[in-house]
Amino acid sequence: MYEHDVIVVGGGGAGLRAAIGAHEAGADVAIVTKLHPVRSHTGAAEGGINAALRDGDDWELHAYDTVKGGDYLTDAPAAETLAQDAPENVVQLENWGMPFSREDDGRMSQRPFGGLSFPRTTYAGAETGHHLLHTLYEQVVKRGITVYDEWYVTRLAVTDEDDPEDRSCHGCVAWDVQTGEIAGFRGRDGVILATGGDGQVFDHTTNAVANTADGVAMAYRAGVPIEDMEFVQFHPTTLPSTGVLISEGTRGEGGILYNSEGERLMFEYGYATNDGELASRDVVSRAELTEINSGRGVDDEYVHLDMRHLGEERIMDRLENILHLAEDFEGVDGLEDPMPVKPGHHYEMGGIETNENGETCIDGLYAIGEAACVSVHGSNRLGGNALPELIVFGGRAGRHAAGADVGEPEIPVGKSGDGIEESDVQYPVDPGSADETSAVVSGDTPDDVIDAAVEAETERIDGLLEKEDGVNHAEVRSKIQKTMTDNVNVFREEDGIREALEVIREAREEYQDVYVADKSRTFNTDLQHTIETRNVIDTAEIIAMGALAREEFRGAHWRKEFQERRDDEWLKHTCVSWNDGNPELWYRPVLLDGENKTYEPKERSY
Ligand SMILES: Cc1cc2nc3c(=O)[nH]c(=O)nc-3n(C[C@H](O)[C@H](O)[C@H](O)COP(=O)(O)OP(=O)(O)OC[C@H]3O[C@@H](n4cnc5c(N)ncnc54)[C@H](O)[C@@H]3O)c2cc1C
Repeated sequence: MYEHDVIVVGGGGAGLRAAIGAHEAGADVAIVTKLHPVRSHTGAAEGGINAALRDGDDWELHAYDTVKGGDYLTDAPAAETLAQDAPENVVQLENWGMPFSREDDGRMSQRPFGGLSFPRTTYAGAETGHHLLHTLYEQVVKRGITVYDEWYVTRLAVTDEDDPEDRSCHGCVAWDVQTGEIAGFRGRDGVILATGGDGQVFDHTTNAVANTADGVAMAYRAGVPIEDMEFVQFHPTTLPSTGVLISEGTRGEGGILYNSEGERLMFEYGYATNDGELASRDVVSRAELTEINSGRGVDDEYVHLDMRHLGEERIMDRLENILHLAEDFEGVDGLEDPMPVKPGHHYEMGGIETNENGETCIDGLYAIGEAACVSVHGSNRLGGNALPELIVFGGRAGRHAAGADVGEPEIPVGKSGDGIEESDVQYPVDPGSADETSAVVSGDTPDDVIDAAVEAETERIDGLLEKEDGVNHAEVRSKIQKTMTDNVNVFREEDGIREALEVIREAREEYQDVYVADKSRTFNTDLQHTIETRNVIDTAEIIAMGALAREEFRGAHWRKEFQERRDDEWLKHTCVSWNDGNPELWYRPVLLDGENKTYEPKERSY
């Protein structure tokens, strides 16, 4: 067994920042990650990181834009904490050596991003995430923080009390991808999940193959509620062939969207007459798809994003990597021709329910970054708001787990508190487990709990490797990806979501018969993808359950039958609890009372 004060699962931006935070507070901290930290998906972030740094801007404006952009499903304490803490965190990154782009006078450059009332997005060329990841990793190395890389965490070690709120997390179980060793990791003071997004639930995504929502699924099965998962962000500018992202920075610098008639669609068809291409991502994604579905798409599949008029000098200075991406993946020279773009899955607004300190309802278990839902993005994340989330809430969770005082949280967690409401939605099939296995274990001491979890996991992995034939994980995974893309995409309607739930149920049953063809114990990607696929199934089901239940149109969640935001009934978070394999959906009210004001819902207009 490996033992540390704090175990951070995941070495992306959130995990690295949490580890630094815990180390700053005096903890012996270790990062356990399935990819080497600098290969984490944070490295793909292109556009920038929001922080109110300039005269004329302030944290209250940033918080307001965040709540408005989130279509009032954001919890005010989360948005205010983000906006208040982001400036000093960004300056801290600068002091650690992050090479931000600068103006002639030396100040960090800031550019406009969709939905922001002030140009507050700082950036490092069009490789902000890459530089952020390397800057943080350097600090991790400098501090001598232990990194177990290429260790795949497959399960949490959580006690088995009936009520999840009475349970404790003592560690996790991981599998060494290089050697096949299965081992327990004890986190004496806490385990922090920082496992990133869920792109693999869909078949056209900007996310990496590694983004399989492992942390969400592990926390879910251990009893933590998963919040607001129906709010999936689709990004309007992805390359049609691969899903590779063309940063919002391209539109921030002045890039223009055209349909096949050569019309500037955002204005011509009135999708966003004030903000044009810089309306929120949900608005632009729907506009593009409406154009394509109305026969005004190019080759019936995409629209054009044109940046030629910006001039070579500006493009090379600020968007050089966009030129490379368009050339490498579509064979288009962005200096000479417009680029083909269409909407694709990009970001999960929901996740593991936490408070502002990253705590979940299970003692000792934390979650941060894209895996978590502190509820800062509500129903629609503003571009440039994910990266500050990583560093603000990552740092807080690390310090809190290490025992530092980071203040009392205002956001409640777990299925208790005021205003909890049960859902009465009827699902077309029984969601949830098709087997009897439990994700929690009993034991008298923390070590016993971890040993029992290791034993259960060894049995599962041996079972997968010993099985001689059955279904391949890829068949099951692609079935999920197809139905989610067909039915729970940018546009959603009841029949389609019901169909998705039925297909997910079939996939869950087929998964009972899954087997691993590669029997090796080292670098067995077949085994890894098989385990990940179970997580993809659980996550897809939570998204579809939430999408069916939410009978309104809010942020990224568009429903054919419900074309209005219904604040009278739906100012509430969707929570799904695993409930020992019989998932249940319930609601918690949104918190709109901030420090100095209440955020009164207003109609979104762009
Ligand atoms: C193409 C792209 C561009 C983006 N651009 C921007 C932008 O400009 N600005 C912005 O604010 N946001 C942007 N975002 C969003 C933002 O980059 C992500 O939300 C954020 O980087 C996620 O960070 P993370 O640390 O939560 O996860 P990740 O960086 O994905 O890290 C997850 C970590 O968890 C590890 N892990 C996962 N599962 C396991 C497991 N089972 N066991 C062990 N380890 C595990 C992985 O190895 C990895 O180290 C962009 C996203 C994409 C996809």
